[in-house]
Amino acid sequence: MPDDASLTPLPEKVEVAIIGGGYTGLSAARTLAKSGVKVAVLEANTIGWGASSRHGGMVLTGLKPGMQSVIKKYGRDIAKRLFKCSLDSIDTVEQIVGEENIDCGFARCGHLLAANKPKHYEALKAEVEFMDREFNHKVRLISRAEQGSEIGSAVYHGALLDECSGGLNPAQYVTGLASAAERAGATLHMRARVIRLGRRERRFLLETERGSLSAESVFVATSGYTGNVTKKLQRKIIPIGSYIIATEKLSDDLVKELIPGDRMVFDYRHYLNYFRLWDNRLIFGGRAAFFPETSRTIQRSADILRREMIQVYPQLKDAKVEYVWGGTLDFAFDMMTHVGQADGIYYSLGYAGHGVAMATYLGQTVAEAMMKGDIREHPFASFSFPGAPLGLYDGFPWFLPFAGAWHKILDWVE
Ligand SMILES: Cc1cc2nc3c(=O)[nH]c(=O)nc-3n(C[C@H](O)[C@H](O)[C@H](O)COP(=O)(O)OP(=O)(O)OC[C@H]3O[C@@H](n4cnc5c(N)ncnc54)[C@H](O)[C@@H]3O)c2cc1C
Repeated sequence: MPDDASLTPLPEKVEVAIIGGGYTGLSAARTLAKSGVKVAVLEANTIGWGASSRHGGMVLTGLKPGMQSVIKKYGRDIAKRLFKCSLDSIDTVEQIVGEENIDCGFARCGHLLAANKPKHYEALKAEVEFMDREFNHKVRLISRAEQGSEIGSAVYHGALLDECSGGLNPAQYVTGLASAAERAGATLHMRARVIRLGRRERRFLLETERGSLSAESVFVATSGYTGNVTKKLQRKIIPIGSYIIATEKLSDDLVKELIPGDRMVFDYRHYLNYFRLWDNRLIFGGRAAFFPETSRTIQRSADILRREMIQVYPQLKDAKVEYVWGGTLDFAFDMMTHVGQADGIYYSLGYAGHGVAMATYLGQTVAEAMMKGDIREHPFASFSFPGAPLGLYDGFPWFLPFAGAWHKILDWVE
């Protein structure tokens, strides 16, 4: 952490105060500042400290819930608008990376959804036809026989390939996005945890750990780290840990064998694994522990993930694991992403591990809606943001061990 002298002083007054300095907050700040709005980003730790610098770097099409269930729940029209947002979100990342010259290895390398069981592959066959019919979105099957050209592992029963998705380096992207927001005129304030949010007449008052400021509007962009400063939102978000290991640098030949097309890969399970290459390392992640990151959950996850990795790739049994880390995901009770305004406070939350492109896009589009003063037309504001069943949740996810066990059972039977 930098010392106090190097911290940007807080302004007294801004038009918009953004709480949270990840993709959502920075993308919103860039958009607002480009339109001449006076905006400050207040970040509790360092800029990009949260999930935005620690994720798997997969820039994915679609939403966390499958589109079949989205159609069933919300109808065709909303589902089509939401799916289009997901495609636009990848275009948005590509455009920002190009316009702002962000050196983060962004590439449209495509993603693979790998079938853990033969019946998953049957479901993927139906998905290819469904995505074409409903969304005119072309995805392709990779049979078990041809799988070696995509994944150097025998454990899967084929896969689905979506060539529209991409990959990038998380920390490089967040650093680039932060510089872009600053160049546009936003001020970024690290070590400025908001500890109280109140109102005086028509303005918001934000008290931080190192001073206060007032704002006409507030945007909450705190994802899995949403705390009790915004208690109503905290009670709608379940923080869930996700963990990643990175191997030592592997030989070029081994790298070519593991994922020959350099694609982003994840499997079909509830307790899913995801993996990709970066800089000749295999980056292998999963929901090894459900609770958010602590030194204990990180250490336990390292062992679990290494075992999982070797199951997928026995050829890595002697490869050293050089890094392990964890971060927190934000799940809403319906697993959907939600944007909106509550008590005059704007928010974009609930990415459910699918937020690299979406956080960038929603940061931008919610900021645009703020400038218009109306967010009701936003596709992600067109359905309600549920709280816990029976209200049995105050922000501490006591039920996670049960949810973890339930997911394991589902993976066993489905
Ligand atoms: C291990 C892991 C792997 C993932 N892999 C992928 C992937 O491959 N593809 C994908 O699409 N998504 C992935 N995700 C999800 C993705 O990273 C997130 O959805 C996205 O980064 C969310 O961005 P954000 O800006 O909303 O939140 P964050 O980047 O989490 O930022 C929130 C910030 O708010 C700050 N904050 C909280 N409270 C306060 C306060 N009171 N005052 C000031 N600041 C506060 C926190 O310090 C934090 O920095 C992954 C996430 C994790 C953890």
